[in-house]
Amino acid sequence: MRSTMQDAPLLIRDIVRHGQWMYADKRVFTATSAGMTSTSFADVAQRAERLAAALTRLGVQRDDRVATLMWNNQTHMETYLAVPSMGAILHTLNVRLFADQLAFIINHAADKVIVVDPSLVPLLARIKEHIAGVEHIIVNGPLDDAPFAVIDYEEFIGAEEPGFDWPDLDETSAAVMCYTSGTTGDPKGVVYSHRSTWLHSMASTSANSIGFNDHDRCLLVVPMFHVNAWGAVYTAFMAGTELIMPQMFLQGELLLNMIMELRPTVAVGVPTIWNDLLRAAGGRSDTDLTSLRTILAGGAAVPRFLIEAFRERHGVDVLQGWGMTETSPLVAVSTPPTGVSREHEIDYRVKAGRVMAGVDIRITNDQGEVLARDGVAVGEFELRGPWITAGYYGTDAPDFFRDGWLRTGDIGTLDPHGFMVITDRAKDLIKSGGEWISSVELETTVMGHEGVFEAAVIAVPDDRWQERPLCVVVRTPTSEVSAQELRDYLSDYVAKWWLPEHWSFVEGLPKTSVGKFDKRALRRLVADGHLEIQTL
Ligand code: ADP
Repeated sequence: MRSTMQDAPLLIRDIVRHGQWMYADKRVFTATSAGMTSTSFADVAQRAERLAAALTRLGVQRDDRVATLMWNNQTHMETYLAVPSMGAILHTLNVRLFADQLAFIINHAADKVIVVDPSLVPLLARIKEHIAGVEHIIVNGPLDDAPFAVIDYEEFIGAEEPGFDWPDLDETSAAVMCYTSGTTGDPKGVVYSHRSTWLHSMASTSANSIGFNDHDRCLLVVPMFHVNAWGAVYTAFMAGTELIMPQMFLQGELLLNMIMELRPTVAVGVPTIWNDLLRAAGGRSDTDLTSLRTILAGGAAVPRFLIEAFRERHGVDVLQGWGMTETSPLVAVSTPPTGVSREHEIDYRVKAGRVMAGVDIRITNDQGEVLARDGVAVGEFELRGPWITAGYYGTDAPDFFRDGWLRTGDIGTLDPHGFMVITDRAKDLIKSGGEWISSVELETTVMGHEGVFEAAVIAVPDDRWQERPLCVVVRTPTSEVSAQELRDYLSDYVAKWWLPEHWSFVEGLPKTSVGKFDKRALRRLVADGHLEIQTL
């Protein structure tokens, strides 16, 4: 028997329409060097309609790729709304990629148009002659001296009327594409559909996850070129959540100013950003973070001390999320379950998260056998579901899938209540004497020492044990903490044979294009002899 329910497609245009009238007065704030600007959802949606009309005039058709090379700002949001809704595909380019990687991705995706922020035009100029397939470049703002022919965004959309007639589309058609940041090999393209975007957005409004709603104002620190800013742009329009777009002003002090001026209720970004905010917040006597009901930290393991410090010093709860480019990204959020005391909540917040409805998850061993969800068995996480990718764009990558499940490359445990704990990425695990050591646990623990600002742990070869951990530490400005003191500190928390004997103190750690510790770069520094290493 077939159900009698209607089967209207889940399309991004309807998220746009919903936010446009239901939350017409909600605002999008954008940081500029001259202060904050702000515009209403109604205006943003109208400008998106004009943009769609202008792109149509330019010759953009169904399935054409329109790329963005932009920071988090209102215009970027307009492309998010317009391009998929008109049936084209939005391709968000990572502004921190090396020029040759960027050219590779633009050509691989066959981008036809690029919308670029003025500050990023020089980056584009460096690769212009290698991206011959790009027909038009639209610049978001005035440019004194354009190195090539460009279209001015305001003139472009100013020539059109609002009220674009969004087309009917198949809900499984491509809406947005984003390439993985390439920390584990060549960047690979992931294509999100209208349907996957809808369902992912709805999941993000669930109170069991972040629960975005119309009481919220969100400081969107996670870049819009990284997995749709974790879906927050679409969720915001769906739920009536206001957005604060920080552009390139991402230092702790600047974010602190934005928080105190605009009083967001939610902030989302990677843990390194929040560590920097914590440092900035501690340096001011008038710090006030009380507007924040939660900070969502994800993309990398969140150290316990960070969660404790935000709660104890500033009264802010940190939620952890787990996800990857391939998973739209949200899969799990560490919302503590019912019945847990305030004191024990933190034992849940330090986990990667609890899996959301819609995502099917399992852990497997090297032979592909499914392991128990008992919080003890350690294996690789595998996923499937309506917002989990089933393949990569234009690339055959059978090793990343098993019987229709995405192999994440992340290793850890799954408990009977659906909480994931990440031990490591498979390639970052340290194999010592036939046993695994978790680099994640070592680094998140050592970062709890008051003299440590940041720390990353990688494997170094060892004649006797095969591999041993090397801990690379950035001290806090006044700290003189020694390797021995840190080793003693760690010994209260981890097994004796895990304790690193190799230590290195540096001014700063290499970070990936999205702000995570870059262990590949760190391994290269060690291999090239560029790190001074003490061995205890
Ligand atoms: P990249 O692979 O280039 O870092 P992604 O943003 O797709 O780009 O990264 C996804 C990966 O980030 C996951 O596979 C996982 O290793 C890591 N990650 C994400 N969230 C967490 C978390 N809460 N704890 C530990 N690792 C995380």
